Amino acid sequence: MDFSTARKSRKRVLVAGGAGFIGSHLCDALLAEGSQVVCVDSFLTSTEANIEPLRNSPGFSVIVHDICKPLLLDDKVDEIYNLACAASPPRYQADPVHTMMTSVVGTHNLLALAEDHGARFLQASTSEIYGDPHVHPQPEDYHGNVNCTGPRACYDEGKRAAEALCFDLLRLGRVDARVARIFNTYGPRMQADDGRIVSNFINQALKDEPLTIYGTGQQTRSFCYVSDMVRGLMALMAMNPNPGLPVNLGNPEEATVAELASLIGRMIPGGGLVTHCPLPQDDPQRRRPDISRARDLLGWSPRIALHEGLERTIVWFRLAARDAKAGLNV
Ligand code: UDP
Repeated sequence: MDFSTARKSRKRVLVAGGAGFIGSHLCDALLAEGSQVVCVDSFLTSTEANIEPLRNSPGFSVIVHDICKPLLLDDKVDEIYNLACAASPPRYQADPVHTMMTSVVGTHNLLALAEDHGARFLQASTSEIYGDPHVHPQPEDYHGNVNCTGPRACYDEGKRAAEALCFDLLRLGRVDARVARIFNTYGPRMQADDGRIVSNFINQALKDEPLTIYGTGQQTRSFCYVSDMVRGLMALMAMNPNPGLPVNLGNPEEATVAELASLIGRMIPGGGLVTHCPLPQDDPQRRRPDISRARDLLGWSPRIALHEGLERTIVWFRLAARDAKAGLNV
């Protein structure tokens, strides 16, 4: 297949997982650039509220569908982003078999759709494919250290298998597939109760509860603001020709869990207390993306520093809490 054929000016883009945290921001950005957007979502771990403001946008439509089942569409799509999968450890471990199937069977179904439509395909992979890494920071050619029998394997191994499917279909010349490895991302529309560190800490601090540090708090993560992530995903989808390699997307600004607790504690009055809880099994000890490839190939790097991104996220969670109190649908 010739992947370089001329593309229409008004694209029709399918976003699987389009009602999720990153997916809904991607839908916003695609509509803003003039694309038509088909949001496909099972709503198992996402919320209607994320796409409520888009419901009346011209060119926006929603299909309620679990990608574990084949998806047939009459109207042609030009691009498919696959962000459909539970992504926080408590959520993806709640139904581990479904998580694995979403990445393996679901990605296979969407790749079949992409092949059928001659659509470009972007797979949302993850820093989790590096497991608990022995190489730091993590470049894309590091093959990772995943415990394939542990509780995170349903997500990590599912996403690794999805990458393999993408690169096989690319090598076979059947799908113009691209793979972004997304590192920890935060911002408005994270779910307050999905168990991730940024949403947990902000909501705990807003409720004057102690921040729950798992383990010693010396483990690290590197946090990317959601608008930077969306820009990176769109740049990778737009790249011509297909780089044919996975690309890390994330913010290399690394912090320990304890440092993040202290920062959020200082940003929210009354949020200074912490409590220690057991470290979850196989929790990666260090994580920071090497983003040289994204810089070189896409000219991409994050613009929003951690403090600024947290300020915006705190403002959003404050408003969401106020609306929830007032009985509004958020
Ligand atoms: N974490 C924590 N307290 C929380 C939630 C998470 O200390 O309330 C820790 C967790 O153990 C991990 C890090 O924060 O070391 C990031 O966890 P998260 O679930 O946000 O993402 P992931 O582990 O998938 O990177």
